Amino acid sequence: MAHVWIDQLKQIVGEPHVQTKKSSLLAYSFDATPNFQALPDAVVAPANKQEVADIVKLCNQEKVPLVPRGSGTNLAAGTTPTQGGIVLLFHRMNSITEIDEENLTITVQPGVITQDISEAVETLGLFYPPDPSSMKISTIAGNISENSGGLRGLKYGVTKDYVLALEVVLPNGEIIQTGGKLAKDVAGYDLTKLFVGSEGTLGIVTEATLKLIPKPTAKQTLLAVYDSMEKAAETVSSIISNRIIPATLEFIDRPTIQAVEDFSKVGLPVDAEAVLLIEQDGTVENVAKDMPLISELCEKHGATQVKIAETEADAHALREARRTALSALARLRPTTILEDATVPRSEIATMVRAINEIAAKHNVSIATFGHAGDGNLHPTCTTDVRDHEEWERVEQAFEDIFAKAIDLGGTITGEHGVGEMKSPYLAWKVGEAGVEAMRGIKTSFDPNNIMNPEKIFAKSTRKRVVVST
Ligand SMILES: Cc1cc2nc3c(=O)[nH]c(=O)nc-3n(C[C@H](O)[C@H](O)[C@H](O)COP(=O)(O)OP(=O)(O)OC[C@H]3O[C@@H](n4cnc5c(N)ncnc54)[C@H](O)[C@@H]3O)c2cc1C
Repeated sequence: MAHVWIDQLKQIVGEPHVQTKKSSLLAYSFDATPNFQALPDAVVAPANKQEVADIVKLCNQEKVPLVPRGSGTNLAAGTTPTQGGIVLLFHRMNSITEIDEENLTITVQPGVITQDISEAVETLGLFYPPDPSSMKISTIAGNISENSGGLRGLKYGVTKDYVLALEVVLPNGEIIQTGGKLAKDVAGYDLTKLFVGSEGTLGIVTEATLKLIPKPTAKQTLLAVYDSMEKAAETVSSIISNRIIPATLEFIDRPTIQAVEDFSKVGLPVDAEAVLLIEQDGTVENVAKDMPLISELCEKHGATQVKIAETEADAHALREARRTALSALARLRPTTILEDATVPRSEIATMVRAINEIAAKHNVSIATFGHAGDGNLHPTCTTDVRDHEEWERVEQAFEDIFAKAIDLGGTITGEHGVGEMKSPYLAWKVGEAGVEAMRGIKTSFDPNNIMNPEKIFAKSTRKRVVVST
């Protein structure tokens, strides 16, 4: 049955920008997370902040759930319209508003693609460092709402480190500005930081001002090959304890190497147990100083081969190969589950070992790659959701992985967010009192619970099992 508010939506944004056909709704019933699906009642594409505010006011009045959605690449069921309602799209709000070369900022609308930001500023000798592997398709509002990380996180930080100001439509339809083009600002609570990582549960981002830095003038890329995972992990700790902070320090295990090589044919050593992809950038002098030291440390910790990319084309191919890891693994079986359990970087070797033991214990296939320098691993299970018995073992394995990460002083999610998928585990990390404090914030912003309901906050917490690995 058609809802009356659908006609009101059409008046706000124009009829062509409201989709209600089942075939269109189906496309927005799921995101990049397997096994979560729910149909919205309408999909709406506003053109500007006033239209967003009018939609939000209508939803608040009619108590209609509202799910903001960028490109739907999140891996935590963050945009599934679990209670129906409206999915809000931002492809009509995708302009770069301003690049300010005096204040070193860029101001963008929510639907701008991450890579377009990088490319636009790099032509001016500027640099926007956050680079999630999905940057060719992810939107900036999605990155902000998940506080996304990337391959350059170790040296440059993550999205939150670059968000200076936001324009946000609150759940009551009011439009607020947070922060500014300011290096310093302590006027009240830091609402900018509160919205970063809030997963569309507190308001709708309609504009963002991001910090830029000068583009590094030099960069070098190295591939170190290992016959044991432990040696690769030891190298990671050793580089950092030697006071070298590479721009990128990525780990890829044997099953991932094989899948990536099969997919991208860049000449990765398919017999290796692990490889590290390491990049350093900065001034020509700094890169020339750090790279030989990094090579030396790789060799000292047992690398069987250390290869420095000779051309930017070779380096680019290696970087792109790493970025395809998830897509490459996804070709192996019908369902791919990628997690982002994160531990202190000193615990990388222990965590990788534990993941392998957990996979063996539950007889499931898990490949691991990730941002080793950040302690942020991506254990990735290739499976088939239609095999219910196997699926139960996969779920059990991931519960054990979350529990192990917590035991090692880590977290259930380093960069993908909680969404609906990991909501039953949030209390494992922040405690029941922590969840209640967060719920209090949510309720004060959104008393009618219209903004992306059933994300972050679960109806019940999963029981914590003690893992023995
Ligand atoms: C192949 C692949 C590689 C990936 N690599 C990485 C990686 O390296 N690092 C990483 O951190 N993540 C990675 N991800 C996860 C994902 O790409 C990121 O979370 C990304 O930021 C999501 O952007 P999106 O535009 O697709 O947002 P969506 O998935 O559409 O939405 C993400 C969240 O943002 C909210 N949202 C969207 N727009 C707005 C808005 N205007 N206002 C308020 N809330 C909004 C949504 O409600 C949702 O909660 C990867 C995913 C894939 C599929």
